[in-house]
Amino acid sequence: MSLSLFSLQGKVALVTGSGQGIGLAIAEGLSEAGAHVVLNGRDRAKLERAGDMLARAGRKVSISTFDVTDHEAVAAGVAAAEAQAGPIDILINNAGMQRRGAFLDFPVEGWHEVVATNLHSVFYVTQAVAKGMVARGRGKIVSIGSVMSELGRPTIVPYTATKGAVKMMTRGLAAELGKHNIQANAIGPGYIVTEMNKALIADEAFSGWVRSRTPAARWGETGELVGAAIFLSSAASDYVNGQLLMVDGGMTAVV
Ligand code: NDP
Repeated sequence: MSLSLFSLQGKVALVTGSGQGIGLAIAEGLSEAGAHVVLNGRDRAKLERAGDMLARAGRKVSISTFDVTDHEAVAAGVAAAEAQAGPIDILINNAGMQRRGAFLDFPVEGWHEVVATNLHSVFYVTQAVAKGMVARGRGKIVSIGSVMSELGRPTIVPYTATKGAVKMMTRGLAAELGKHNIQANAIGPGYIVTEMNKALIADEAFSGWVRSRTPAARWGETGELVGAAIFLSSAASDYVNGQLLMVDGGMTAVV
């Protein structure tokens, strides 16, 4: 049956930054498809609330609290996750952040913060998880890029640099790990309604620009990323490697 290609029954998935927003929606979706999900973030109480919500729905869920920008904490956090849930079959590199500001005055601390959170994290967590995947001869790595993996926009130069790098890291991982039956792909969300965009959504001029710039003529919802995440986490994508799948209402297809 072709739908069984999308089943995640018996799989363990670590989703970074999954106490809220896109990460939580993806964790929810993967768990509904059968995976045991490990929630991650820095705020333990937030993760416990999300974990309770999933457990009440009968899902298999664990929590591993660690900061994805801290190399040692990542190694310990991945080990703790595997001790609780078992070897990680699926890694979703979702944790990320935004800082806005004119390039000429952008504070160097902000640059380091954005690069550490959006890019160093992908290196740290993927390296910690992929060693076991190589040993087991299988694995799925899905990193959350952005429309900014392909496009520029004023006031978010550091963010754009990191999301472009996530696309290229994905290709590098595919090139190196493909022979171990590991697929590394990325998802490029368009403008999605989350905490990160609260100020933009409230700004009618910006919100109107998003609607007019997007063929779908609206913002996206977090749940709309779930289908792509399940596809790239499941056997349905076993011969898909190094790709960036845009889930952006068509934004990057048009000028
Ligand atoms: P949110 O701000 O709603 O959530 C970000 C999550 O990342 C939080 O759960 C936060 O948890 C976690 N996080 C942040 N820093 C760290 C850290 N150092 N260590 C561990 N966890 C961390 O963001 P979104 O859901 O909107 O975004 C999720 C991803 O999607 C990001 O990579 C973002 O760049 C990307 N994206 C979002 C788009 C959008 O329109 N919303 C568009 C394109 C891409 P905690 O605070 O508990 O640590």
